[in-house]
Amino acid sequence: MIKETKSTCCYCGVGCGVIISSQNDKIIDIKGDPNHPANFGRLCTKGSTLHLTAKLDNRLLYPEMRLTREATRKRVSWDDSLNYLTEQFAQTIEKHGPDSVAFYISGQLLTEDYYVFNKLAKGLIGTNNVDTNSRLCMSSAVAGYKATLGSDAPPACYEDIDATECLFITGSNTAFAHPIIFRRIEDAKAKNPNLKIVVVDPRRTDTAQMADLHLTILPGTDVALYNGMLHVMLWEGLLDMAFINAHTNGFDALKDTVREYTPKMVADICGIKEADIITAAKWFGKGPSLSMYCMGLNQSIHGTDKNAALINLHLATGQIGKLGAGPFSLTGQPNAMGGREVGGMANLLSAHRDLANPEHRAEVAKLWGVESVPATPGKTAIEMFDAVKEGSIKAIWIACTNPAHSMPDVNNVITALQNAELVVVQDAYNNIDTNQYADVLLPASTWGEKEGTVTNTERRITRVNPAIPTPAEARHDWAIMVDFAQRLEKRLAKNSNLFPYITTEEIFNEHRETTRGRDLDITGLSYDLLNEQGPQQWPFKAGDTTGAARLYTDGVFQKPDGKAQFVNALYKG
Ligand code: SF4
Repeated sequence: MIKETKSTCCYCGVGCGVIISSQNDKIIDIKGDPNHPANFGRLCTKGSTLHLTAKLDNRLLYPEMRLTREATRKRVSWDDSLNYLTEQFAQTIEKHGPDSVAFYISGQLLTEDYYVFNKLAKGLIGTNNVDTNSRLCMSSAVAGYKATLGSDAPPACYEDIDATECLFITGSNTAFAHPIIFRRIEDAKAKNPNLKIVVVDPRRTDTAQMADLHLTILPGTDVALYNGMLHVMLWEGLLDMAFINAHTNGFDALKDTVREYTPKMVADICGIKEADIITAAKWFGKGPSLSMYCMGLNQSIHGTDKNAALINLHLATGQIGKLGAGPFSLTGQPNAMGGREVGGMANLLSAHRDLANPEHRAEVAKLWGVESVPATPGKTAIEMFDAVKEGSIKAIWIACTNPAHSMPDVNNVITALQNAELVVVQDAYNNIDTNQYADVLLPASTWGEKEGTVTNTERRITRVNPAIPTPAEARHDWAIMVDFAQRLEKRLAKNSNLFPYITTEEIFNEHRETTRGRDLDITGLSYDLLNEQGPQQWPFKAGDTTGAARLYTDGVFQKPDGKAQFVNALYKG
């Protein structure tokens, strides 16, 4: 008999819903979920061929271990591998302190996996050395949102694509990277020929081919362009002064800054025509304007300024919190959002709390039932491998990511892994580049087998259900960490019982409680509700019957006085 299971595509942050067909514990086909609001049944080439990846070729099926670097790894039992790791981690922590160990994890993990890693590092061991490959992807977007709006929350949603009159795509080749969103853009343009599409990209991409205006700026000149557009908006009377006065701070300083960003000066910096800057500013200023942006803004040494300068345009024109308007960062990874929600990074805490805030640290400690969570920020991705290389981090645990292939400056990462005293790699596959540096290799489950939740670009949480069981001795990422954490808790003589979970639902429910009263409050959600009513956007508070499609509709932002902050971003070459 063929079984159908609802899940999501695991490739990108669009978060398309899928229905997996399986027979005799084998995945045989896939189709788009017609009821999922991210894709309404559509899948791109990547998603529609996912079932072809569900093979046992190259799967890691048993734990392996070696006691010296010269030795070859041998198959061992779960008990032997986890007991060994417990002892090694305990000894390292006792001898060199909690910051001598680190966890490098992944935006490909599910939210429940992420939650356990984060609690293990910050709650049990007492280190903030937990960071993720999302650091390479979305950290500028996070910082840009926090600096301007006060919280790491994309305010718009996919529905806004259908309602916008000016779509401003910048630093994103949406046609390639987020194909299902692009299909929706094509539909919107077909329905509304007056829709203006502006694409800002030095490259002539497929996305740029459908633009009404393509601004081929010189690489890295984004801030100059946005400031130049603001200059034009000021001159042309396109600003929403009532919104600026009622809902923002810092406009006067920014006004002084953009005074000098004349179309002539910006045209020279960006290598585009003055007239095109004026046209883009006029279309954006008229609105409703939706901006969509991705790695072109994020992967930059000025990434936060680029994000903030773009958000400035929305605040100055009041193009936020309305149908068809808002700054909408496109998430690269399938569950970078979930990782951000549980605070699974070196400088974040659960439920969008700040590590630097003593009250937030006390709240998390209370929720977890521990004395405190550490105040010193942990090492971020790049710093983490630098610290492994120079020896202050002795043991590193890598899960669901392949840093020996995907990090910048790979040679540095490889030297670090060669220098480490202990490298643990937890992965579904036996052929990833990082495996060769592993002293202990732990087999994990993968797409089609995993259970939990993910959050997509538009803050929508979807249940991920397992279509088939895990093969051989592979285990779920959360389950591996819970088993290890329980052993370590005992070995470190802590009677805390911080990891009592038997199911992912128990982990979800604990995560849910940490969000109570926060901007991403999901106290109204449960596995049952997600199963019965389908994917939901946050916030979704207890008592609510639906999530919030878009944020800041009341003009109240997540800053102490409720006002958004203009960031005085300067163009730097
Ligand atoms: Fe998967 Fe992204 Fe394609 Fe959707 S758009 S099917 S989530 S790769």
